[in-house]
Amino acid sequence: MARIVMKFGGTSMAGIERIRAVAARIRREWAAGNQVAVVVSAMAGETDRLVGFCREASALYDAREYDVVVSAGEQVTSGLLAIALQAIGVPARSWLGWQLPIRTSDGHASARIADIETAGLLASMARGEVAVIPGFQGLASGERVTTLGRGGSDTSAVAMAAAMEADRCDIYTDVDGVYTTDPRIVPRARKLKKVTYEEMLELASVGAKVLQTRSVGLAMKEKVRVQVLSSFVDDDAPAADTLPGTMIVGEEEIEDMERQLITGIAHDKNEAKITLTSVPDKPGAVASIFAPLADANINVDMIVQNIAHSTGPTPSSTDVTFTVPSSDLAKSLDVLEKAKAEIEFAQIVHDTRVAKITVVGVGMRSHAGVASRMFTTLGQRGINILAITTSEIKVSVLIHEDETELAVRVLHTAYGLDAEDDGAA
Ligand code: ADP
Ligand code: ASP
Ligand code: MG
Repeated sequence: MARIVMKFGGTSMAGIERIRAVAARIRREWAAGNQVAVVVSAMAGETDRLVGFCREASALYDAREYDVVVSAGEQVTSGLLAIALQAIGVPARSWLGWQLPIRTSDGHASARIADIETAGLLASMARGEVAVIPGFQGLASGERVTTLGRGGSDTSAVAMAAAMEADRCDIYTDVDGVYTTDPRIVPRARKLKKVTYEEMLELASVGAKVLQTRSVGLAMKEKVRVQVLSSFVDDDAPAADTLPGTMIVGEEEIEDMERQLITGIAHDKNEAKITLTSVPDKPGAVASIFAPLADANINVDMIVQNIAHSTGPTPSSTDVTFTVPSSDLAKSLDVLEKAKAEIEFAQIVHDTRVAKITVVGVGMRSHAGVASRMFTTLGQRGINILAITTSEIKVSVLIHEDETELAVRVLHTAYGLDAEDDGAA
């Protein structure tokens, strides 16, 4: 007997028929004698709809009330799943975030889980009941409802698995594993049998939304065995512990022979590029730009500072380009305009039609030439690079948004990642 957490995403919960199929999957794990806790997302599209209502009600909405509204989608699916389970003879009940409770920080709309009270839940599971827990939600210190940031049900699932010392955390989604790149963009993407926590963390943080970044960080810290697999499989498919999904594992679990130079490629269209022109080339100039952005809690990602050119007797100046999340663009422009006198720039230019493409692989540590292959490949296709950043195991470039699919495809081929045939190898 094992104790397992099963998490089902939005497409897996989209409608009563899908919820019935999910219930049938859960029954198999439960009937095999396992203790089962299930974490669910809202129905696909529902959270977007609820966010839309908040924006419509007021552009400057109260984040505490936003959390009350957007957490509602998961309340609906958790209740419906408990009903569907009971209907097929599986004792089940829902446990809302405030009922357990799942304690979080006060950071509304992107709260962090601090602690989960599991005593009541474990007692119920020991009696053979399936626990159904809405993902994405928690409770802040002032007894206010919080949410964990978009895609946060993955983090709820991993946190539940850690808190109840589960043997496995199975993340069921609409693809059957983690691929070398988004299989919806590159049909020749290859499914990875295993991927290290570190690489998955990088892939998620640069746009591979198959897992929320925080969930991977938490799994790495708490050593939770996470598996990504499809909920869209036949009833007679093999049991989950033998299903060919993707295991997220420690680096020591990957054989040298399995190791590729590049593990995967991700893209992110949710960044905006800002350029400040003619910033004085003097000590403290860069700090005067990024300090007020940091104070406003805006995460700056890529930064490019051009080489300054002295123009005779006037002091030399330089352009500074950087990216911020698109959702923070308006706030960033406002902050920068207010700091204009101090920064002394000439103009602000911004562009949201950009995409960041990133190649990730721990093999890069010991191999030169990864970045240059990327630049050459993009250059040969006439794709212009607007900014570059690198770290020990990744290289990112910023390009025009329209060239995203082409760039991902040609890089996928250039790094030898294409599957033999279309689809999973
Ligand atoms: P869920 O609703 O189950 O949480 P998500 O939409 O959040 O599902 O995540 C699954 C999606 O992630 C897939 O449909 C796929 O398009 C996308 N995706 C992006 N990069 C990858 C990747 N490298 N491997 C697999 N899926 C990926
Ligand atoms: N329903 C939430 C979202 O769409 C959380 C999740 O599905 O993980 O972001
Ligand atoms: Mg998701």
